[in-house]
Amino acid sequence: MEIDHNLKKKLEKGKNRLAEIFLRSKLVDKKYIDAFLRVPREFFVLERYVKYAYVDTPLPILKDATISAISMCLLMCQHAELDYGKTVLEIGTGSGYNAALCAEVVTNGVIQEMKQKPVCSIEIDPALYNFGRENLKKLNYLRVIDVRLGDGTQGWPEDRRFDAVIVTAAGRVIPEPLKKQLKIGGVLVMPVDLGRYDWQILLKIRRISEDSYTKTELEPVRFVPLKGRYGIKQVP
Ligand code: SAH
Repeated sequence: MEIDHNLKKKLEKGKNRLAEIFLRSKLVDKKYIDAFLRVPREFFVLERYVKYAYVDTPLPILKDATISAISMCLLMCQHAELDYGKTVLEIGTGSGYNAALCAEVVTNGVIQEMKQKPVCSIEIDPALYNFGRENLKKLNYLRVIDVRLGDGTQGWPEDRRFDAVIVTAAGRVIPEPLKKQLKIGGVLVMPVDLGRYDWQILLKIRRISEDSYTKTELEPVRFVPLKGRYGIKQVP
């Protein structure tokens, strides 16, 4: 995709303006805003929405999926306590944008080939998997992000434990396999639909021992439904 010079200038201005607003509002810690400044969101949206890349709104990607609003992604990273050196599992790669933000935070912007990739992301839909993977590949993020096609509610296919798990689609229950892949002290953030149909509560779970967890209700949010074995049953 080629972006013409004028549009490029406008996007840069919009991006800086948004960063200023986030900074002044004290929405999130500066390290998340710095990560935002390093990821070109225009490369993760469909061509017709490039001009809205730095409007803080969700945008449709493919099928019924959406790339979340920027502030939502940054808040999810903060709620998940992402920081330099941590590992994270994301369920719902979609465009790959949120995975890229996570990668910037945990590597502090050093996107170099790593033996064990700190960010893992699973996408259930083959078309979205290809879309997200291509976006991440073009920007070299596959050096630090492992992207797989599969049902994320069943956890990462390898025996690994993460500092953080971020679920970017709404379920009704927190999938057990995801809780089991948290390190002790690790945090899972996920929108959970408590029967309210079109909005959810963002839940934060912390693993405090092998078999105990604490739960905190955060803010009301709106995400697309989580599919898969422990997702929301689809009504035919
Ligand atoms: N994080 C994405 C947002 C994607 S929207 C971004 O930054 O663009 C939610 C995504 O979750 C969709 O792509 C959907 O296909 C995916 N999804 C839904 N259920 C899933 C599951 N069980 N496992 C993996 N991905 C799932």
